[in-house]
Amino acid sequence: METLRTLPGDDVRQIMWRFADRFDLQMLVQSTRAVARSVAARLVADGQRTTHEWTAEKASLLTAMDGAGVTSMFLEPKYGGYIEGPKNLAMSLTAFELAWVDGGAATCALASDLALAPINEKGTEEQKDFVFPNICPPQPGEDREIWRGAFALTEPLPYVGVDTGVLVGKVRVAEWEEGKEPMLQVDKRGRFITNMEFANFVTAAVASDDPRIKSSCIILLLKDDEGSWDPGAPTKKLVHQLSATNDPVLNVKVPASRIIGGYTVKDGVIVPNVSHSDAIASVFTRTRIPVGVMTSAKLLSAVEPVIRYQRQRFRGGEAAQPGSPRYELGLQMNEDPCHRLVDVWATGEAGASLGFETSRICDRFDALEKGKEALLHSQGISGVRAEAKALKAVQDKALAYLAEVGKPDGDAAIIADAEADVLVQFLVHHAMTGVLIPSCKLWNTGFGATMMREAVSLMGGYGITEDCPGFLGMKWMDAQLEATYEGPESVQRRQLTTTIDQPVFLALCRNWTAELKAIAADRPATGAGALAASMDLWMWALDYLTKSKDPQGKPLFHAKRQGVSFAMADAVAWLMAARCQLLDVLELEAKGPENPVVADGLEGTVQFFMDLFTVHAARTAGEVGRIVAELVLGYLQPEGDAASLPEWETYCNLRCAVEARLAGCRLAKDRAAHAVTQVMIPEALDYPQ
Ligand SMILES: Cc1cc2nc3c(=O)[nH]c(=O)nc-3n(C[C@H](O)[C@H](O)[C@H](O)COP(=O)(O)OP(=O)(O)OC[C@H]3O[C@@H](n4cnc5c(N)ncnc54)[C@H](O)[C@@H]3O)c2cc1C
Repeated sequence: METLRTLPGDDVRQIMWRFADRFDLQMLVQSTRAVARSVAARLVADGQRTTHEWTAEKASLLTAMDGAGVTSMFLEPKYGGYIEGPKNLAMSLTAFELAWVDGGAATCALASDLALAPINEKGTEEQKDFVFPNICPPQPGEDREIWRGAFALTEPLPYVGVDTGVLVGKVRVAEWEEGKEPMLQVDKRGRFITNMEFANFVTAAVASDDPRIKSSCIILLLKDDEGSWDPGAPTKKLVHQLSATNDPVLNVKVPASRIIGGYTVKDGVIVPNVSHSDAIASVFTRTRIPVGVMTSAKLLSAVEPVIRYQRQRFRGGEAAQPGSPRYELGLQMNEDPCHRLVDVWATGEAGASLGFETSRICDRFDALEKGKEALLHSQGISGVRAEAKALKAVQDKALAYLAEVGKPDGDAAIIADAEADVLVQFLVHHAMTGVLIPSCKLWNTGFGATMMREAVSLMGGYGITEDCPGFLGMKWMDAQLEATYEGPESVQRRQLTTTIDQPVFLALCRNWTAELKAIAADRPATGAGALAASMDLWMWALDYLTKSKDPQGKPLFHAKRQGVSFAMADAVAWLMAARCQLLDVLELEAKGPENPVVADGLEGTVQFFMDLFTVHAARTAGEVGRIVAELVLGYLQPEGDAASLPEWETYCNLRCAVEARLAGCRLAKDRAAHAVTQVMIPEALDYPQ
């Protein structure tokens, strides 16, 4: 049987992650990769991660990123950027390339985007014109300092962390002369603020400390503003040392025009147009995906060094003569190291697929969000409540649309009409992103960190040394920061608790399950059937838990009952990752023949990726089954009989349907494990260069 011949190259990835027709993104990938594998890798190899200080050597990373177009990637062409339109996929690809080598380097790039995001998402045109041209590196002949930013939300204990509602950072009116722009005094202490060491601007979250300012806001501060600007001491991080993190103390006077999104004056009171919570919601919507992608990049980057280590483990010893299995296969003579590597690889694939799919959906969502805002504005609808009411009014249309889409012969007129309706499409995409974004951040980083430990373990003692090729030990620890910053697991789980039971998302889920069943009917030897059955089980469990109570009469599925709602959130993240992974394999199978490089050996490549998917789908089925079993049975009286569960038979049938479809999953794992013993790898790792 044909199997994977070489490690997947750019041609394969461009098809799977859908940027084969995006020359701009392909160039971005190449230039970012050059920085990652030369400058960033060299800094790590030279021991720059052993200091908390922001050294001149580390700063060379910024210059390299400027030169490679990483810094200006976030900007629209009119401000000196080179990618037109939404940048979610671009951000994720950049993060992937940098994190392949070093998570800190990736964070260094991402933190600038984070600082700019409030202005990009909620800023006025004047604010964009004021800031964005300065972000672009100076062109030949230009003499100006490049602006580098930090985003300051988190505050010293006991203030803002996971809970971002109550801020200790304050803004008050400093001077307000009749007919003139008010001047504001901003007092903000931050904790763990990335890029702060060298930032010359900060977008800071502050609350009003003055009856003449109505609400909280995000405000733009410049290093040259009147007042004091102390970047603070470097954080003694154990991780991501190629990014600069500090606890700043800022106290500056700024014009009110710096309030992101602008303000109006009503009855002598400054009313910010955008509160800090509205701004951060839209900021994190976009920037959490690349963080998830970063951890997946680490897992995929581990494959090559692990294979090389395994194969070479006994070479040079007397007992391993060339041509002998001990010489040729080394540790790969054993089943377990190959199986474990397959698990690591499958997790990396699923996470990357989830991250890139979510990025692509967000790219579409950005335009829909703007379209929705323009439409509602034209209808004179404004304010959170009025907007929610307008959207609620089209929910039935969205559900009717999804019902038709889900039928093999759905009504073409209804579908076409809903596809042209901005509000319906906004609702559908909103439902998708509301689940996919937190799933990506939660699952990729959380389970990814666990699997990074597996990758490290496969290298034995070498894995936890600085000499380990691919810097795997450092990546393991780095993954934990990715699970923590931009909102740790609880933040993602809390969001999922509010989005997974929404009717539009559940309608999407039903359609996806039907699609998976159709795929499984064509390909019974894959994990598609197990995944479809797991989704059925999960949807039933959500319904059961929503309408059931514990012996004390307390509802089971409830935001406050994290033991239930968080576990169901975890389960959905597994399902989303596996589904995206399958879609990417099918895309490769469909489009691979069009590319001569990919077409050669495609059968083996697709078989291998499908086997990885099947391995992962089986694991997903196990996790979902375990979670559902614990939640559905775990709140019954211990002395009772599980069979007294009112829906016992339905539950058993659903569980059996999952288990029955696991047939063959270990055969897929054996095939994938065989493939990792056969695949060709380069003689040496291509970084540091
Ligand atoms: C290196 C680094 C860089 C960073 N960069 C930035 C930056 O640039 N800008 C910025 O603003 N911030 C930044 N942060 C801050 C980061 O976003 C926070 O550390 C993170 O959001 C967690 O907040 P915390 O540390 O206060 O944790 P806590 O809020 O103290 O949480 C501790 C634990 O309790 C859990 N928990 C907390 N609340 C709940 C709850 N309600 N329900 C269930 N569980 C809960 C959490 O999930 C976590 O496991 C950075 C942090 C680090 C370490």
